[in-house]
Amino acid sequence: MIVAKRKPFEEIKEMIKDYKKVLNVGCGTCVAVCLAGGEKEVAVLNAEIDMARKLDNNPIEIGAKTVERQCDHEYLEELDNIVGGYDAILSMACGVGIQFLAERFPDKPVFPGVDTCGMSANQAVGWYEERCRSCGKCVLGMTAAICPVTMCAKGLYNGPCGGTNRGSCEIDTEQPCAWFRIYERLERQGRLDNIKIYTAPVEWNDQVPRTLIQPGYKKPEKAEGS
Ligand code: SF4
Ligand code: SF4
Repeated sequence: MIVAKRKPFEEIKEMIKDYKKVLNVGCGTCVAVCLAGGEKEVAVLNAEIDMARKLDNNPIEIGAKTVERQCDHEYLEELDNIVGGYDAILSMACGVGIQFLAERFPDKPVFPGVDTCGMSANQAVGWYEERCRSCGKCVLGMTAAICPVTMCAKGLYNGPCGGTNRGSCEIDTEQPCAWFRIYERLERQGRLDNIKIYTAPVEWNDQVPRTLIQPGYKKPEKAEGS
């Protein structure tokens, strides 16, 4: 899932200091599961903002609404009749949801309430470890299902680099070398020849915003004015 952490309170407070009516929109999916931006976190943040603004003699009317997913038009519809009553929006969704929300309400300033931190696995409550950076060219089949983009400090598709040191990465002895781990696992599986396969770097044309349309689905016509 996508994970995020709440921004420092002072940063959030500063971003919205000039607005008197702010709607805080939570997201009920990934950021709710990782305890950063769901209904509960929206309520906690709103209470803190309300208190701080009172103490600053700069009271605020701060609304709360958590939608199922901010990265989906279907769930943003329910905000259409609410947003007009506010000067600005605070979004507790990941960077995708925040941008999608801002595209739906282009006349309203939208501010991020969280920092999006990656696509991670749930190791324990409140503990998430990144596993994928959505590079768009998955090489896990070749690397014994260890992601070199995420787990290698240099994100190398071809490794190890000269800094690998008895299983550790050159950046820190506590940091395992991803390519050493890949080597070990490939060896264990009798697939060590994979280590010699060269993977070309990502093309620059992969760096523009990517669109994915699954086979059998057609790109919908753009709505007029969008
Ligand atoms: S190679 Fe790594 S970053 Fe790329 S899609 Fe696969 S898991 Fe994600
Ligand atoms: S030592 Fe290993 S993990 Fe570190 S940058 Fe080099 S290949 Fe990547």
